[in-house]
Amino acid sequence: MFLIFGFRTKPVALGWVGAPCRVCGHTGSQLLIREVTRFSLFFIPLIKVRTRYVLECHNPMCRSVNRISGGEAENLMRGGVRAA
Ligand SMILES: [Zn+2]
Repeated sequence: MFLIFGFRTKPVALGWVGAPCRVCGHTGSQLLIREVTRFSLFFIPLIKVRTRYVLECHNPMCRSVNRISGGEAENLMRGGVRAA
């Protein structure tokens, strides 16, 4: 019997938040992204394994992606999110 399983991470853009970039210092908006990793069996996502938040810099010269904690993401969302 075959057992096909794996992990799949799905990024979801939550919106633009006002935060300075940690890499280039760009003070404009950054894209807040939630990455949810799920365990899947036979290509059906079943169990949520991990949730991560990242900020993507909008500066075309930088484009860095920085991981932030769930608490930081919550604070940024409380400060206001513009639709992506
Ligand atoms: Zn940057």
